[in-house]
Amino acid sequence: MTVKAVLFDVGNTLIKYDVEFFEEVFQRILTSLGVARSLVDIKKAFLNADNESRNLHLLSSFGKVTCEEHWNTWDSLVLKHLGIAEHAELGKAVHSMWFDYVDCAPFPEVKEVLSELKQRGLKIGLISNGYEEEIHIILEKANLENAAFDIIIGVDTIKKVKPNPDIFRYAISKLDVKPEETVFVGDNVEADYKGAENAGIHALLVDRTEKRQSDIKTIKNLREVLSLIRDKSQKSE
Ligand SMILES: [Mg+2]
Repeated sequence: MTVKAVLFDVGNTLIKYDVEFFEEVFQRILTSLGVARSLVDIKKAFLNADNESRNLHLLSSFGKVTCEEHWNTWDSLVLKHLGIAEHAELGKAVHSMWFDYVDCAPFPEVKEVLSELKQRGLKIGLISNGYEEEIHIILEKANLENAAFDIIIGVDTIKKVKPNPDIFRYAISKLDVKPEETVFVGDNVEADYKGAENAGIHALLVDRTEKRQSDIKTIKNLREVLSLIRDKSQKSE
């Protein structure tokens, strides 16, 4: 068995996000707009918005409506739960300013690992639960070249969201590789690991802490991908 393609999740796999990343970005933007709210209040509003979004079918429309429409709705919902009357207008402002307030730094080993994979002649790609346009902005901010990736798939590509195995199957069919020739690396057990596994792809969970889950193939950083796929190829030779 030879590995021909390695696919990655984006957030917290290639690009570093802090734990309270979304809430903190939200707070930074509100502050710049002259609206002062504590992080505790914002976290509460996120939870309430999350509960309400289930009734609004915001999750089921994710990837099916435009990026702008999705995030305007979400941002407005959070602002409503923060008690802000003009939440619809302000929600649009938050969305339009979002990436000006986000740090998109890749983890230290990312560039080296991606270029090594390319040098070995492997195909590389991204499958993210973000919109394609967001992935492109993130790559640009992180100084990772769009063109280096053989495929970039977001929630709007086939209007499906991880862990739906169809999104993984779509990626490998486009790359013309078999599931058993493909490795997928992500940081989320449900969306990434199980999603890839259900499509018959070799799944790896990246967990940069000391945590290990016994039944899950876990790596501590992306460098381990290089040795693992070398081993896989050699065993079958
Ligand atoms: Mg992730």
